[in-house]
Amino acid sequence: MDQPPPSVDACTRGSLDNWALNATVTMSSTDVNSTLKLGVNDNLNLTNCPATQTTANPLVRVDMNATRQVDKVFLLFPSDIAINRLEIYVGEDGGNNRAINHLCTSIQSVTNPWTVASCTQPMNGRYVFLRLQENATTIKICRIYIYSTCLTTSCSNVALSRPAYQSSLSSRGIASLAVDGNRNSNYFQRSCTHTKKKNDPWWYVDLQRLRVVQKVLVTNRKDCCVNRLNGMEVWIGIDNIPTFSNALNTRCGVIPTVGGGETVTVNCSANTVGQYVIIRIPGRNKTLTLCEVEVYEACTRQPRCVNSGCKRGKNANVALGRPTRQSSNFNSISVSANAVDVN
Ligand code: CA
Repeated sequence: MDQPPPSVDACTRGSLDNWALNATVTMSSTDVNSTLKLGVNDNLNLTNCPATQTTANPLVRVDMNATRQVDKVFLLFPSDIAINRLEIYVGEDGGNNRAINHLCTSIQSVTNPWTVASCTQPMNGRYVFLRLQENATTIKICRIYIYSTCLTTSCSNVALSRPAYQSSLSSRGIASLAVDGNRNSNYFQRSCTHTKKKNDPWWYVDLQRLRVVQKVLVTNRKDCCVNRLNGMEVWIGIDNIPTFSNALNTRCGVIPTVGGGETVTVNCSANTVGQYVIIRIPGRNKTLTLCEVEVYEACTRQPRCVNSGCKRGKNANVALGRPTRQSSNFNSISVSANAVDVN
């Protein structure tokens, strides 16, 4: 008898959670002696990520210690490894009995170190499994992040009101003024940041979860000093210590010149994934002033169960993407989930 899935409120613990963060990760075999904490943002050398031995159908198991509703799994593989025929399962069976657990999705070939796996529909389970459908191969992986349904891709500015930091402070231009939702480019209207004049100044915003960033909009000051942003670099990544040569961060773009009061759009390449958006100006004796920084994902318009809608429990269609069942299917495409698919 097909039992209904356990009832899980994906937003119970706060909508920004990475369920892998405190999970217990095990591999079907290991070629390194390590306790795998693949969600933790520690100093990770990407050339020394944990791997299984070469076997048939190697597995990585993430035990989240409680049943969660899983929507997206972000995976960071080392750039020098080939991963083919990857299957991701979600379910209650810790041995990954595939008759019990649910196939979240399968990926024929991983072509980018950052892989974002979206389940075909939100799935409940305590465990997430990575499995390779291969006779003799290995899984080597650097990071795993698991997110719930309520924070699917947003069409809003995901930097708005997020925590922001900068390399130094001058003239009361605190870092949060670049994410206050106000593009006012007159510095004396108190909506622009200001560092001291030093080498390689930086600013960054913490998006508080991973995002696939499509573009970053930066608004320059116009009442003075409009050349200061020239040569600005925009970086996206998972290293919040802005070292900039770090393999965990990706440079989205460089802007040679920015006009006074201008809002420039920096388009990132596909698969630009990160939690931190970093802006820096390389060089000696530079001052960084930002009147607004906006960060956007590639998105399709959805009901407002994103960001504030989900977090505050307002304006959200709470049926969206939830598990569904019906008495029978008319044909193979008339499944019950079609009633909660945003269409
Ligand atoms: Ca502002």
